[in-house]
Amino acid sequence: MRQTQKVMLAFSEATSNELNEILQHGFFKDKKSPNSKSKSKMSLSKQQCSQTASMKKQQNYGTKQIYEIIQQMRLERNAPVDLVGPQKCFNQNTDLQTQRFQILTSLMLSPQTKDDVTSKCANRLLEFTINDIANMDEEQLVKLIYEVNFNLTKAKRIKDLAQLALSQGMPTTFEETIKIKGVGEKIALIYMHVAFQKVEGIPIDVNMIRICNRIPIFKEKSPTKLRKFLESEFEHKEWGDINQTLVGFGQQICLPKPKCELCKLKNFCEYYKINNTSD
Ligand code: SF4
Repeated sequence: MRQTQKVMLAFSEATSNELNEILQHGFFKDKKSPNSKSKSKMSLSKQQCSQTASMKKQQNYGTKQIYEIIQQMRLERNAPVDLVGPQKCFNQNTDLQTQRFQILTSLMLSPQTKDDVTSKCANRLLEFTINDIANMDEEQLVKLIYEVNFNLTKAKRIKDLAQLALSQGMPTTFEETIKIKGVGEKIALIYMHVAFQKVEGIPIDVNMIRICNRIPIFKEKSPTKLRKFLESEFEHKEWGDINQTLVGFGQQICLPKPKCELCKLKNFCEYYKINNTSD
């Protein structure tokens, strides 16, 4: 068998642990056969591994393996999204209607704003009832959320949401939720997941677009196209965790200025190959 065929065969049979080894050390460990004396028989240069990985990706076999490696890097779950993500800013001891309002409010505060800042403002609003916010002077509401970006617009929309909640109740479906001003696909999907435990899609965030374009898992900037692609790659039961896993990876390692030296995906990553700024 030619060397290239051996490489492809070994790659296709690699478990996630072996794949990790490949990514960390740049060679395939020999399978334990009674005749094998060392791993050198299957050793490959980093360049050969990268080419093999790239060939595998082109065959569209790589997304899940890459995700598994990201999951391994995210075992500690200590990114801002895990600790103070907007989906955590609600009072579990209050009535359901208020909880839903608080969840959607904190999500509406989050665009273009860091999680710790969103959390600070959302927690301040927990002191007030839906009725308080519906009748609150807009200026006062702006003061309560002044640290978030676009606070004027967000204050107006949150007040509108409070009035809607009083007149019609909080939305209970994705279709109803996405009609609300200030709510896009991502927010509506997270709201349905957190408030109703319904996973109706994979919410796409700017971190996810950056990561997927860098590796590249999917070279598109459109959130809807990326969502559909990821939904086709993963089983429904896996969808619920993908956003938080990738967002946390984007907050801790694959930042806008990435910390590639901490990343186990260097050999897969096109951005790293082009820039090679670390290591
Ligand atoms: S190697 Fe760098 S750019 Fe590539 S996925 Fe890892 S952190 Fe991001």
